[in-house]
Amino acid sequence: MVHPTDRPEPFAIARRPFLAGAAALATGLLAAGRTLAAPPHRFGCGGFQIDVFSDGFITLPDEVIAPDASPAERADIIRRLGGRQGAADIPVNIPLIRAGEALILVDTGSGNTFQPSAGRLWDNLLAAGVDPAAITHVVLTHAHPDHAGGVLRPGGTLSFPNATHHVAAAEWDFWMGREPPAHHPGLRGLVPGARRDLGALAERLVRMRDGDELVSGLRVLATPGHTPGHISLELMGGDGLLITGDAITNVVASFEHPGWRFGFDTDQDQGIATRTRLIERAAAEKLRMLGYHWTSPGLAVAERHGAAYRHVALT
Ligand SMILES: [Zn+2]
Repeated sequence: MVHPTDRPEPFAIARRPFLAGAAALATGLLAAGRTLAAPPHRFGCGGFQIDVFSDGFITLPDEVIAPDASPAERADIIRRLGGRQGAADIPVNIPLIRAGEALILVDTGSGNTFQPSAGRLWDNLLAAGVDPAAITHVVLTHAHPDHAGGVLRPGGTLSFPNATHHVAAAEWDFWMGREPPAHHPGLRGLVPGARRDLGALAERLVRMRDGDELVSGLRVLATPGHTPGHISLELMGGDGLLITGDAITNVVASFEHPGWRFGFDTDQDQGIATRTRLIERAAAEKLRMLGYHWTSPGLAVAERHGAAYRHVALT
């Protein structure tokens, strides 16, 4: 059984790898990235056209990725993720969906609010000829900094000034309620950033509920656990697509051990229940999924494997 006080402090842990000496390397990679923009990966789904942009990567330690794993299992997972010394670089995949006249961005990356190896979405959009002012909708799966930190430019203006912004009503209530979520000690460090990002949107925010349609054929699915108001999106038509945000975070641990906790889930038991339900459905219906932190560009299916699953990447 987990106790909230056992949980790691996300900022402290997420920042530790580069505070430990990799800051110069990360800065160098960022600088290199500014001259080598990553082009998006394009695919279709019924009447939708989807371009997956990279926001760069974030570095996560094994105690966040798989806190329930043994030391040997943790080492194996980190090795399979291409990491070393107890941490791995995890991609950040951001879909931009074109649906008729609508241009819908799902999450905004980190901006300059998290790790210096992330925050590349803005440059990658511009390099691909996408005008941020042309984006009509921004959907936030949740208000963690690697998803909502790019809502604002470093100067504090809106990154996507003409977009309506969408978040689950439960997510707004969790972060912005009169009682801040201080009863989650592991998430304490995330409160000011979430309040800054959501607060800046207060006037233009559309609060979504389970089953709401953003545009025809694009539906909100409540997938709570990672945060209380975490949402995924389902695209109907063609082969279908589930955009899973952080409901299914890791290509190894989440699929092969869906019953394991994830270190950054607000309610880890609810996170397990949501994750298992979502993967089970995707495997049974052979649905394509797009994961925010999966092997780029993040497209995959789940294959049942005994009592667990396998992540099978699609290109
Ligand atoms: Zn995330």
